[in-house]
Amino acid sequence: MRDEYDAVIVGSGPNGLAAAITLARAGCSVLVREANATIGGGARSAELTLPGFVHDVCSAVHPLAAGSPFFKTLSLERFGLEWIQPEIPLAHPLDDGSAACLYRDVNFTAEQLRGDSSAYLRLMKPVARNWGKLANEFLQPMLHWPHQPLVLARFGIPALCPATLLSKILFKHEPARALFGGIAAHSFRPLESIASSAFGLVLGIAGHAVGWPIPRGGSQAIANALANYLGELGGKIETNHRVENLNDLPKSRAVLLDVSVWGFLRIAREQLPSAYRRRLESFRHGPGIFKIDYALSEPIPWKAEACRRAGTIHLGGTMDEMAAVERDVARGKIPERPFTLASETPNL
Ligand SMILES: Cc1cc2nc3c(=O)[nH]c(=O)nc-3n(C[C@H](O)[C@H](O)[C@H](O)COP(=O)(O)OP(=O)(O)OC[C@H]3O[C@@H](n4cnc5c(N)ncnc54)[C@H](O)[C@@H]3O)c2cc1C
Repeated sequence: MRDEYDAVIVGSGPNGLAAAITLARAGCSVLVREANATIGGGARSAELTLPGFVHDVCSAVHPLAAGSPFFKTLSLERFGLEWIQPEIPLAHPLDDGSAACLYRDVNFTAEQLRGDSSAYLRLMKPVARNWGKLANEFLQPMLHWPHQPLVLARFGIPALCPATLLSKILFKHEPARALFGGIAAHSFRPLESIASSAFGLVLGIAGHAVGWPIPRGGSQAIANALANYLGELGGKIETNHRVENLNDLPKSRAVLLDVSVWGFLRIAREQLPSAYRRRLESFRHGPGIFKIDYALSEPIPWKAEACRRAGTIHLGGTMDEMAAVERDVARGKIPERPFTLASETPNL
């Protein structure tokens, strides 16, 4: 192991590995240090319940990785990454036993949303067609000069609306409202807040453009493929190595910290200007989430048949019910029936 690098990266989550690859591709020598025994951060998989049942520790479903312009340049299938496309990307069951579904085909999705077909098409189709251009705009640092101002404007005007308002203006019936509301609820913000529609739009459009795929073998396959590519470029990864202080690191021209705000403060405290340190100290995390893993003896007997064919299921009821729940969460209240994402995969 050398004692000097162009860049040291702390944390081997997908962002840390992506940064390491970008630097290594530019000819830099790179070291990644990871606190855990395994790489991947939120993209790890493990036998969390019974032997032989592999679960994702955090992330499971990856429209934004599959649709990422950066990932497209990596050809990670060379390193074993394979996307499984569920027959139906997303189903949202309702209490009457039906389910509103997002299908890959935007026209077919609209046809199923009877009474709201044209509104759904008007909202989704023009931007879904332009996913490639849009993804280039919003899957890069926020502050940049837009390369596609027209496409961005077409997306940005509805995206700025609160999800509750947009769905009520556009849709007359509950299935379309609930489908859109469930996707917007990925924002973990109250659905009445400005720009909460942005999540509904980005993830909805991604569903039509690239699907909501699951990596074969679990999300660990993404981290492993990134790490293998980094290895091919000469980058090094050290696991079981928690960084407590910047002074612990080997000499390097740059240090990148792929850690939380609190982790950043702990590691870099002495080097930070006091005004910046105080700003970081006042950072408050958003609401937490809770995840539970089940080893199933048989598929879940969903009442709505479409749910049995879907990769992701949103359990949240109507738009109004989800809005009430997210309002409670934002006020720090634990809701009786929280908005729940279910992802059921056969052992892959
Ligand atoms: C329960 C849950 C479900 C999710 N589901 C999805 C999903 O389905 N789809 C999706 O796209 N996203 C999902 N996400 C979000 C996704 O996991 C994150 O966006 C992603 O992991 C962020 O990547 P990152 O590289 O920025 O950070 P992380 O993945 O958090 O990686 C940070 C890494 O840094 C390491 N580290 C921290 N401190 C130190 C230190 N001091 N020294 C050394 N190493 C350190 C950590 O061990 C970790 O490996 C989910 C998140 C959670 C929590």
